[in-house]
Amino acid sequence: MTGEGVSVPTWGLLLLVLAMALAFLMSLRTHPDPRRGARAGLGNALLSSDPLQRARIWRFLFGASNHAFGLLALNYGAQRGVLNAPSAHLLTAVAALAIGGIYLVLRTGWNRRFADPALTEAQMWVGIVLLGWGYLIGGPGRPVALILLFVILMFALLTVTFRQMTRASALAVLVFGAASLGVVGREGALPLTVDLQVLYFCVLLIILSCACVLVRQLALLRERAAHARHDLAEAMAKLHGQVIRDELTGLFNRRHMHKLLRIEQSRADRSGFPWCVAMIDLDLFKKVNDEHGHPVGDEVLRSTAQVLSGGLRGADQVARWGGEEFLVMFPDTDSDDACQVLERIGQALSRTQVSPTVPDLRVTFSAGVTRHLADEPLARTIDRADHALYRAKAAGRNRTECLFGPT
Ligand code: GH3
Ligand code: MG
Ligand code: MG
Repeated sequence: MTGEGVSVPTWGLLLLVLAMALAFLMSLRTHPDPRRGARAGLGNALLSSDPLQRARIWRFLFGASNHAFGLLALNYGAQRGVLNAPSAHLLTAVAALAIGGIYLVLRTGWNRRFADPALTEAQMWVGIVLLGWGYLIGGPGRPVALILLFVILMFALLTVTFRQMTRASALAVLVFGAASLGVVGREGALPLTVDLQVLYFCVLLIILSCACVLVRQLALLRERAAHARHDLAEAMAKLHGQVIRDELTGLFNRRHMHKLLRIEQSRADRSGFPWCVAMIDLDLFKKVNDEHGHPVGDEVLRSTAQVLSGGLRGADQVARWGGEEFLVMFPDTDSDDACQVLERIGQALSRTQVSPTVPDLRVTFSAGVTRHLADEPLARTIDRADHALYRAKAAGRNRTECLFGPT
């Protein structure tokens, strides 16, 4: 590359390679912060302040700089007289229009209306047609078109589906096939033209089939990763359920109820609304176990849990506190209302068939209710509920006792 005629294209090429490298590096930052840096204003104007659009435009610019490189090479060839200059200029003009058009669609946000807002497939198709055309008129430098096609396909690997890649490959076979025939028609008299066209076409087929296979494998990998993520989320949810729930009854366990009580305490401290705690204990449950066996006792515990959950309002929470003891939390509730709810549930339980094994078996519970007093520790509220429960037992069981103040 010596002489005056080559310095401008050489510099142009160098600049473009630099621009390409820059575009590539920037496109790696998928979501650059548009507010950062002094060039943010210019960046927002040229690219977009929307991070998603910005990433799309960066990807497009990388593809466009790839084409610009090809066009410069083409014009350089025309300048050196190895290919037809008017054809090279026409292709340059059409490519500039197509690239500018895609940029406008992306920059105006019109792309958001399409099913594929990144316009990946459209960009691939435009690229294939331009490169096929470049291949036709590219003279001895035409293998460059194949290399640039390879670059475009490699880039698309990450974003296109298998269907899109097979469609693009079919288009490439058609376009490059027609271009090869055109080359044979124009330059068939030159030595090795047909052999080279067959060779290049084979290279094209290898590139396309590799791209399709890779896209397929990537899709399978993504599918497997999605399954693994789904399974992991399910396992985490299950594990979480096991950590917070009691295995036998499915109610919250004591540890989780402690957490809910703490949350309610700080919420009520801010709002000033009353809230209550009730301690419930099955009456003479030991007798159930002794007379009918432990499995029947378990059935009774499960049925009691169902009756309790079914009888409470949505905001109330119930937990298995221990053996045959349950704790209920009543947010935004005064103790009178809580007592009424418990009496109603107590009556419902006494009528419920609690064991399929012993259909005639009926059980009752005793309950102690109290209101949480401002600034008192939770343990004291729970102690008072326990104390109220003790009174209910002492008063003959199957009843609810309320304790309003400190014991
Ligand atoms: P009270 O009316 O005074 O409460 O009498 P009670 O018989 O219910 O009281 P006690 O505390 O003496 O008995 C509770 C029984 O609950 C004893 C224990 O074996 C039984 N129990 C605790 N956990 C389970 C469980 O998971 N399954 C079964 N079947 N029984 C349990
Ligand atoms: Mg007990
Ligand atoms: Mg009991």
